Amino acid sequence: MQQISPNHVVGVTYTLTLSNGEVADFAEEANPLMFIHGIGQTLPAFDENLNGLKIGDNFTFSLTAEDGYGEYDNNWVINLPRSVFGGDDVPDDLLQVGAMLPMQDQDGNPLDGKVVSFDENIVTMDFNHPLAGQTLNFTGKVMSIREATEEELDHGHVHGQGGHHH
Ligand SMILES: [Zn+2]
Repeated sequence: MQQISPNHVVGVTYTLTLSNGEVADFAEEANPLMFIHGIGQTLPAFDENLNGLKIGDNFTFSLTAEDGYGEYDNNWVINLPRSVFGGDDVPDDLLQVGAMLPMQDQDGNPLDGKVVSFDENIVTMDFNHPLAGQTLNFTGKVMSIREATEEELDHGHVHGQGGHHH
C-alpha cells in the first residue's frame, strides 16, 4: 500500500476553514488537489501533516499562521502615489476598495496587493498574503498516491489528470 512521502504525486480533497468559520478554499472529489509531495508546491507544514497517510485516510489538522502564510505585518501596508497607477489613464473601476491588483516589487517580482483605500493622491495597498495571520484548519481525504515520474520531478509539477498537459 502506497503511503504519502516525498516525491509522490498525491491527490486530496480538502476544506480550508478559518477560525471565524469562513471556508477559504476547498477541493472536491471530482477535482482533487494534485501535487508533488515534499517539493514546496504546497505549504511545507501541509506536506508534513500528510506524511505516511494512505489512500482513503481522512485528515484533520490546523496550521498556525507562522506555519501557514505568515503573521500579518503592518509594514506590508504601503501608501503609493496614485500616479503609480497611471494617473488619468487609469480606468475608474480599476481602483476599488478590496480589489486585488497584480503589481511588482522593486526587483520586478510579481506581487498581488489589495486596495485598502484611495483618494486623489494616495493609494493604500496591502501586500500581506490574503491568509496572513490566519490559523488554517484543514480537513480532507487522501484520494490517490503514486510515485512521481522523473519528468514530473524535473518540471516540478504533476502531469496528466489534474496536472499539466504538454
Ligand atoms: Zn511538465
